Amino acid sequence: MLVRVLQGLFESFARFGLRSFRSRISSEVIISYRTLEQIKTAFLNAPIESGGIIGSTGKTVDTFYLDEDNHNYDCYIPDTAKLNAKIKDWTENGISFAGLIHSHANGCRQLSNADKQYAIEIFKAAKRAVYFPIVTVCNDDVILTSYLIKDFKLIKDKITVTEN
Ligand SMILES: [Zn+2]
Repeated sequence: MLVRVLQGLFESFARFGLRSFRSRISSEVIISYRTLEQIKTAFLNAPIESGGIIGSTGKTVDTFYLDEDNHNYDCYIPDTAKLNAKIKDWTENGISFAGLIHSHANGCRQLSNADKQYAIEIFKAAKRAVYFPIVTVCNDDVILTSYLIKDFKLIKDKITVTEN
């Protein structure tokens, strides 16, 4: 579950994120092996219901930022000020914001209703497709379930991992 407090981030998209307006996002998420390993390690060590953002250069998701110390008892509450600053920093360094990632407890790989609503709002603000992956941890195994929000639709996405 995700609490809807990312209003500040929406403004940030408008200011910084839309420079690369054409959608670089395909119908399947391509993620670098290195970044996937980073994500796995981070979520393995983070409390459940943590979150962060992912970024891409070109077509590949190759950047990840954990929104540390910002989990809650039963939901992830993004630190909008911190994430906005990070997105601005990424944009200045040629990295596009690609989506929001957060973890769920009890192996739940489905989006909650709040998640869906939130994903649509991010899509509306970003005016382009964004990823919304869910992370679950089960017996020290980290599973990524990818969702893509495109044209107001949520698509369960295939994940392709690059070699490095
Ligand atoms: Zn959720």
